[in-house]
Amino acid sequence: MEKAMLDFNYYNPVNIIFGKNKINELQTLIPDGKKVLITYGGGSVKRFGTLDRVKEALQHHIVGEFGGIEANPTFETCMEAVEQFKEGHYDYLLAVGGGSVIDGTKFIAAAINFDGDPKDIFAQGVGKGLPVKSAVPFGTVLTLPATGSEMNDGAVINFNKEKAKISFGSPYVFPKFSILEPELTYTLPKRQLANGITDSFIHIIEQYLTYPVNGKVQDEFAEGLLRILITIGPDVIDEDNHDYALRANYMWTATLALNRLLSRGVPGDWSTHALGHEITTLNQTDHARSLSAILPAVMVVRKLKKWDKLVQYAENVWGITEGSEEEKIDTAILKTVAFLKSIDMPTNLSEVDVKEEDIDTLVKQLDIHGKEAISERGDQTLDVSREIYRVALDLNF
Ligand code: NAP
Ligand code: FE
Repeated sequence: MEKAMLDFNYYNPVNIIFGKNKINELQTLIPDGKKVLITYGGGSVKRFGTLDRVKEALQHHIVGEFGGIEANPTFETCMEAVEQFKEGHYDYLLAVGGGSVIDGTKFIAAAINFDGDPKDIFAQGVGKGLPVKSAVPFGTVLTLPATGSEMNDGAVINFNKEKAKISFGSPYVFPKFSILEPELTYTLPKRQLANGITDSFIHIIEQYLTYPVNGKVQDEFAEGLLRILITIGPDVIDEDNHDYALRANYMWTATLALNRLLSRGVPGDWSTHALGHEITTLNQTDHARSLSAILPAVMVVRKLKKWDKLVQYAENVWGITEGSEEEKIDTAILKTVAFLKSIDMPTNLSEVDVKEEDIDTLVKQLDIHGKEAISERGDQTLDVSREIYRVALDLNF
């Protein structure tokens, strides 16, 4: 029997500024008189002129810069920014970049105001998991549609010493605003475009492919977004295709995939992310590539647990109407793998350099990070996760 929709609250205060030349609005979006520390990554925003446009728009503000936030941002680097912010008596942050810069900036914003050791903002084997009680205000200029971080209250930070990739969330780290200019995606290389499509796709899957709870709005919204990504994915990864409408749809879909609207009132899985994070910690695989290497094995190993939703996914996302329920599910899994392959993503662990002898380490790390009872029912034990890693090793369709 289908369960009823779960109770929920939904709060999302992020002001989205979407379209052409919106960086010009920074001057009014950031209150007069604020001293702004601009954060960015490894230099793409310098190379492609975005940082100059931001500084031009903020010519009446006092600004400083903190560059060097890594892809998969580290605690250590973010703490350097915390120092610079405090020493320079700044009072506003502006993240210019992809999910890594935005996540790093969320942590920086919370750490600046945190009373105690900022490591304690995190739990899961790293700190005490203490609540964030305030954060410095910040905005974002998004350069890579993928994570949804520009419109949510979560962030993922990497710890070199502890070998961990851990998330935290707090309503205090919603951006005040996020500027989404689809034209900023024109400089993205194919690999990052494919990563963006895939991370968005798997964010939706994590909130959809669970068990039915009669959340018709959430289901149809998720199915629609999945169909859009499947349709536009192959065109989006053509880095020379600068069709504005195409990139605008890609950008907005990626944001909606994880602004938490889809997850309200329905269960969430997030096991592909949990298992993927350990791969990135192990060998620095790109976030989306780690997920893509795991998802097919999750579908195969968890088929019975996700049966009803897999049938629905087959019918409504892939339009499969022929065959038994099991045949529909198997065809949907094949189509999912074919889609990921068509955008040059890995679909097994050997493609992301994980070997059989690494599985023990990955499972041990899951244990340390408190992931011994995950997925929508909390019934994905470490043994089940081990089985998923094992099946993912050389899964070939
Ligand atoms: P990213 O790590 O922010 O960026 C990847 C690469 O793309 C960087 O080398 C960056 O170069 C380059 N880049 C960014 N924008 C560019 C542009 N317009 N043109 C050319 N190159 C550009 O990638 P991401 O996938 O957005 O973020 C991944 C991180 O987000 C992971 O740590 C993941 O765990 C996390 N994540 C967070 C959430 C959340 O809800 N908060 C959800 C999923 C994932 P530069 O460094 O030189 O700029
Ligand atoms: Fe993700």
